[in-house]
Amino acid sequence: MPAKEEFTVTPYEVTGRIDYARLRELFGTEDLTPALLERLRTAAGRPLPPSVERGIYYSHRDLGRILDAHAAGRPFFLYSGRGPSGPLHTSHLLAFELSKWFQDAFGAEMWIEITDDEKVWAKTDLPRSEAYRWGLDNLADLLALGFDPKKTHVFFDTRSIGAMYPLAVDVARKIPYSTAKAVFGFPPSTNVGLVFYTALQTVPCFYPSWIQGEPVLCLIPCGIDQDPHFRVTRDLAERLGYPKPALLHSQMTQGLLGPDRVMSTTGDQRDNALFVSDTPKEVERKLKKAFTGGRATVEEQRRLGANPEICSVWALWRSKFAPERAEFEKITQDCRSGALLCGDCKSMLIDRVNSWFAGQSARKEKAREWAESTIVETLPDGFDPRRGGTPAAGVETR
Ligand code: SF4
Repeated sequence: MPAKEEFTVTPYEVTGRIDYARLRELFGTEDLTPALLERLRTAAGRPLPPSVERGIYYSHRDLGRILDAHAAGRPFFLYSGRGPSGPLHTSHLLAFELSKWFQDAFGAEMWIEITDDEKVWAKTDLPRSEAYRWGLDNLADLLALGFDPKKTHVFFDTRSIGAMYPLAVDVARKIPYSTAKAVFGFPPSTNVGLVFYTALQTVPCFYPSWIQGEPVLCLIPCGIDQDPHFRVTRDLAERLGYPKPALLHSQMTQGLLGPDRVMSTTGDQRDNALFVSDTPKEVERKLKKAFTGGRATVEEQRRLGANPEICSVWALWRSKFAPERAEFEKITQDCRSGALLCGDCKSMLIDRVNSWFAGQSARKEKAREWAESTIVETLPDGFDPRRGGTPAAGVETR
């Protein structure tokens, strides 16, 4: 990122107030235009999810190619991942909730990668056993979002390496160290695990094509901070004989403490993020002190209205907790007009969050056994691991 930008966005660091239009230009991604969104809505045969309709997902690479494949009767699959070092916060759920929408609408297979190895390499004080424990815990939370058990598969890196390794070897040999260093900005102290990791993050993009012996398109919903990983993947896909993965990029979720900090688990961020494991009391405490776009006095707010665009409470309504359009529009309008005061707005949100967390906690307990049994640990019976990329003749793999 050039020094003149007032923000930094990499897979390992997000700082400053992000200018998302500028970031899209810098990353060279495409705009999610109204025409493309209309194509998606028509193909899905259902309304777009709030995160797309409200512009949280705002950028893409090759979404049109996914819709072309679907129109031609060819399947595509979804892929998203999680690096486990603690409980999930609500921002982590975004990509998985959108993946579930695609699975429901298009019947697509879902691949989840739990990157417990990456977290150990990235956070060198994190015990491997902790990353593993959080990996299983996070996986139960993700599956509890309602994925179809028959169409959902999991790579848990330290357990799935037997299935992943031959493909990881093919991928790793195509990524020069200079590329990894340039894309991720690795300092000399970076351990070799982290350098190798981008090969492992690539494996799920190609795995179904590798196993099936024909190209299967991949769609990755993710935060735009993850785009650099998949730029590397897209650059080497053709050389290995696999389709380039398509991407849908979301903006980062604003943290609870204001618009200059994204929700994150990095550093001292406990009060900046809303974790799905937070107790009702913690939720109340955090939301009561959350940054708002309110005025200094009640009288001023009634007279002038508030500013939702900078408000952390509104960011939560927008991204997750007011899924119905009519309710979200009313909150936004009442905020702007001064009809809604921040204290009342926060009380409504505290109730909504605690109710969703209680339901999620119950669903998660039921998903724990499934989490264990859905991890892919070996290649399919009879599969020859010496096989390379084999795109079917006549099928474009750009
Ligand atoms: Fe934020 Fe609600 Fe206050 Fe508006 S009324 S600024 S949405 S807390």
